[in-house]
Amino acid sequence: MPEIILPEVELNIYSPKNPTEATIVENYVCSAESSPNIVRHITFDISGTELEGKVRVGQSIGILAPGENEKGKPHKLRLYSVSSPSKGEGGKQNLVSTTVKRAIDEVDGVLYTGICSNYLANLKPGDKVKVTGPSGKRYLLPENAGDFNYVFFATGTGIAPFRGMIIELFEAGLQGNVALVFGCPYRTDLLYPKYFKEMAENHDNFDYITCVSREERRTNGSKKYVQSAIEDHKDVLGPILEKENTLIYLCGMKGMETGIYHNLALQGYTDYLVLSGSLPETDPNDWNWEDMKKGIKPSVRTFEEVY
Ligand code: NAP
Repeated sequence: MPEIILPEVELNIYSPKNPTEATIVENYVCSAESSPNIVRHITFDISGTELEGKVRVGQSIGILAPGENEKGKPHKLRLYSVSSPSKGEGGKQNLVSTTVKRAIDEVDGVLYTGICSNYLANLKPGDKVKVTGPSGKRYLLPENAGDFNYVFFATGTGIAPFRGMIIELFEAGLQGNVALVFGCPYRTDLLYPKYFKEMAENHDNFDYITCVSREERRTNGSKKYVQSAIEDHKDVLGPILEKENTLIYLCGMKGMETGIYHNLALQGYTDYLVLSGSLPETDPNDWNWEDMKKGIKPSVRTFEEVY
């Protein structure tokens, strides 16, 4: 296993008290047009700011929505994972992108709309936005990225960092294997599907597996979730996960990590995990959810960002 050398990154060049200003250059829907769930790919021009050339894929930027909350205080900072490669969107260092779902929900008959996601979704090219960051110092591709294979697990907008990472790895001519396992509720919620399908068609070392939870069922009748792909697509994922120089990355909904870790253990891939408590001595078939939540941590080969 080669040493994993993480790059040095700049952190919080701009803070909520000292934000900078970026300009929207594009804002388009990257889920299917027919989907009621609207996810947008938004690109910011950071020209002339200290962020230029310093935002790496895997990091997040902060956005400050204008206005105040019900207590009369300014809205809190919201973090968004960068979905452009470290070289910038389209190779332009002044352009940074993110992937944002317009948050709309109804609870007890009352409509709730996410403050910052709706603010961002409504912006047009030319509009100015207050930006902070970058943040995040471990959830990164290694500096020696070409020494590894990768399995990326994403749910929903958790795809953001993997879009940028996959662009970056293949532009650098990666010879190893990459598999992207993406989970979403309906087929219309697949994000950037054209790009990933074409990548899979054009690269023998790239696999794209989708798990459409509310439309597809496993043979045992349960929902298809990203973690079920570890067993159901063992023909593709097994040979990659078995290699000693494979790293795994998880991004998306909190809770997905426990299912993924359990399924890795069930298939014998415990190198990706650090087990404690009663787990090391117990058959993974007998593990319970509470013990797993407490007793499984990611190993050095596993990068997790869920919230
Ligand atoms: P979404 O489109 O609703 O898709 C989520 C998918 O995950 C659905 O298919 C859902 O299935 C499935 N799912 C639910 N529980 C799961 C579990 N325990 N294990 C595996 N899969 C599970 O997603 P979204 O609305 O975009 O939400 C994405 C989430 O990612 C948000 O919570 C966001 O905060 C987070 N996120 C985190 C980061 C980060 O940490 N850097 C970046 C971006 C997004 P069912 O609904 O059918 O059960």
